[in-house]
Amino acid sequence: MADKVALVTGATRGIGRAIADQLASEGYVVYYNYRSTIDVVTGDYVKTIKGDIASLEDCSRMIDEIVAAQGKIDVLVNNAGITRDGLLMRMKEEDFDMVINTNLKGVYNMCKAAVKPMMKKRFGKIVNISSVVGITGNAGQCNYAASKAGVIGFSKSLAKEVATRNITVNCVAPGFIQSDMTDELSDEQKQNIMKNIPMQRFGTVEDVAKTVSFLASDNASYITGQVISVDGGMV
Ligand code: NAP
Repeated sequence: MADKVALVTGATRGIGRAIADQLASEGYVVYYNYRSTIDVVTGDYVKTIKGDIASLEDCSRMIDEIVAAQGKIDVLVNNAGITRDGLLMRMKEEDFDMVINTNLKGVYNMCKAAVKPMMKKRFGKIVNISSVVGITGNAGQCNYAASKAGVIGFSKSLAKEVATRNITVNCVAPGFIQSDMTDELSDEQKQNIMKNIPMQRFGTVEDVAKTVSFLASDNASYITGQVISVDGGMV
């Protein structure tokens, strides 16, 4: 993979960090995106790049910087995401807007910027991190589930637009993965969730990273517009 260049958004921790580490270990030159601070040792394969995915300007600048330095962008993993949970009755407009602007518009911003250089090279792999709740819905997550369902519709549409240019666009829909995002759940919530996981465990960040690595690889050349759930059989 020595000649392949990847960008992973939200690579400071959790799933994004595991995806970036996995791709770097496979020999991709990986740009670890962060918005405030990141703690990683940079080198030939590990680069860092600052930018807020909710800003189209930042996303365009990041892609321009990578293309200027490497001549191309082969793999884009849209991982960065946030939650602002609450029942609709109590959900503030700003919490709805912030989640949509980050999780869904962020994917638009990054894809909009990356597709042009990918089309030019007639090669690209885009992997968008959705969620099982974008498929099933979840009480208390109208904003988040809408954003993640939106990512699926967006990805399937873009996959059709760019297929002839040898660019694939797929989604990974993680179930419950051990991370800062799920650490916020109470023990009672975790026990209730576990009842619905046939494999009887939360996933690991590596479970997700390896699926992303497959979709980014040549082994997945003829797969596009798909959603792969990594959820221990939940959905
Ligand atoms: P996490 O631990 O909360 O990490 C989220 C990452 O996104 C952080 O690096 C964060 O950066 C970054 N980020 C947030 N907003 C950003 C912005 N505007 N610009 C740039 N970076 C931004 O989350 P996670 O659990 O690893 O989840 C990663 C992805 O998987 C998310 O899209 C999430 O919705 C999805 N997912 C997670 C689970 C799960 O069980 N954990 C399940 C399904 C789907 P900072 O360090 O600056 O905050």
